[in-house]
Amino acid sequence: MTWTAALEEELRFLIVAEYRAKKRKRYQSMCEGKDKFASPVLAHSTMRHRDMTAYKCRFCGSWHVAHSRQKLRTHHG
Ligand SMILES: [Zn+2]
Repeated sequence: MTWTAALEEELRFLIVAEYRAKKRKRYQSMCEGKDKFASPVLAHSTMRHRDMTAYKCRFCGSWHVAHSRQKLRTHHG
């Protein structure tokens, strides 16, 4: 097999496509639909549980609050 510019272009396209798909998934789990806070202090002030954490979002630059560990499924909530 000979390496051609067309093959290189195709490979680059595949890498970019996969990169975008991963980035989109990460965006959906990290940012989409979450409350935005201007500072970590504001984010922490909304926390009601100890098992919650605040992080600076790399997508929108705001702070989000999330559960630091997977919450167990309960029937009262
Ligand atoms: Zn965000």
